[in-house]
Amino acid sequence: MEIRYWNKDIETADIKSIRSLQLQRLKAIIASALQTPFYKKKLPSVGINSPDDIKSLDDLRRIPLTSKDDLRQNYPKGFLAVDTSEVVRIHTSSGTTGVPTVIYLSAKDLDAATDIMARSIYATGTTKNDILQNMMSYGLFTGGLCMHYGAERVGMMVIPAAGGNTKRQVQLMKDFRTTVLHITPSYLLHVRSKLDEYGVNVGDLALKKAFVGAEPHSENTRKKIEGLFNIDAYNSYGLSEMNGPGVAFECVHKNDLHIWEDAYIAEIINPKTGEILPDGSEGELILTNLIRHAMPLLRYHTRDLAFLHTDPCPCKRTHRRLSRILGRTDDMLIINGVNVFPSQIEEVVMRIPEVGTNYQIYVEKEGALDRLVVKVELYSKIFLGEAKQIDNLKTKIADELRASITITPVIELHEPGMLPVFEGKAVRVVDNRPKL
Ligand code: ADP
Ligand code: ZN
Repeated sequence: MEIRYWNKDIETADIKSIRSLQLQRLKAIIASALQTPFYKKKLPSVGINSPDDIKSLDDLRRIPLTSKDDLRQNYPKGFLAVDTSEVVRIHTSSGTTGVPTVIYLSAKDLDAATDIMARSIYATGTTKNDILQNMMSYGLFTGGLCMHYGAERVGMMVIPAAGGNTKRQVQLMKDFRTTVLHITPSYLLHVRSKLDEYGVNVGDLALKKAFVGAEPHSENTRKKIEGLFNIDAYNSYGLSEMNGPGVAFECVHKNDLHIWEDAYIAEIINPKTGEILPDGSEGELILTNLIRHAMPLLRYHTRDLAFLHTDPCPCKRTHRRLSRILGRTDDMLIINGVNVFPSQIEEVVMRIPEVGTNYQIYVEKEGALDRLVVKVELYSKIFLGEAKQIDNLKTKIADELRASITITPVIELHEPGMLPVFEGKAVRVVDNRPKL
């Protein structure tokens, strides 16, 4: 397989030169950070008064972590390093976990972020001959515009379809022979469940690839997507605080995500103690943005759980790789004292062949105890015929889940199309327990 690089020198640079570039860029970003109201106070309190106080990458550890709450409390301008006349764009997070946060980009920052996005797209073997249908929402959310800019830089024809209006989306795919989709995995599965109704076969479409991201999904979901559409699905990781998609992306080998270390410094910490963990250990991902000067962000608490590794990749890119996101520290459920991540449930339900394209997790109180209900849609209505078949299937799903999460959920089976549909990030968990 021919390997294409967007920027071969940087993508395949030896680790030592990547680390020295990181140090040089870290110093420059510290200089910008010292211009912001927030870091102007924070950095001197740990003895950093100028970029020269950073002598090696280890000095990064002296800097306290920055949290989403810091961003919220210093909204709207506490992290801004330049006059707004230098800013060409703002974005906000999608607000999955509360009040959104804002980021600012100068023209230079936007250019750098676009380049990293183009590099990510290229790593999947996508070229200017491809046609991208961008099904992430446009506007304040980074998923739409940032991917759009990167794809244009690659030279692709971009269809800025945004989310929603599934019938029209499918029509666009047909009319313009779309080859690549950028979409959330949950919405892509929903699109598949609608094709029959529209009288469209997968074979009528020209799809080759999908960039799936913006929400947690399991390897089994990827396999399901690839099988249902006969395409390659590439995991795309990003967050608005780090400029959106393109922080880490899978290459054609689909063996975890290359995290672009010239643009981001990644660390993994133990979420309870804050201790920095070695490669290979699972913990919370902490990111420092090295390419955004209008709004520097140092050691940002992503709350995403993952691990980093250095296994060589056949593509010869040298940047460390990020595992699939294993969960978010803030979406862990405690059910009758047992810690459960929604991703563990998804992993199981998506490998059961009778399960269709949608599921939801409910937690409620039953007396003093918590009750976990997993609602899944089946592929077709036939299963709703025979009571015995249904009972067997329920038992099978409950047993497989118990083997993974150690508690036995109540299983509800639904006909296709009965569970709520999300055209952006899916809301998989409904926790109806009274708040303490
Ligand atoms: P919000 O925090 O409001 O959801 P964003 O829109 O910036 O804000 O979303 C970023 C978050 O989305 C990440 O921190 C991560 O939890 C999730 N995410 C993004 N891409 C992926 C992916 N490929 N796999 C799993 N989770 C992802
Ligand atoms: Zn690779």
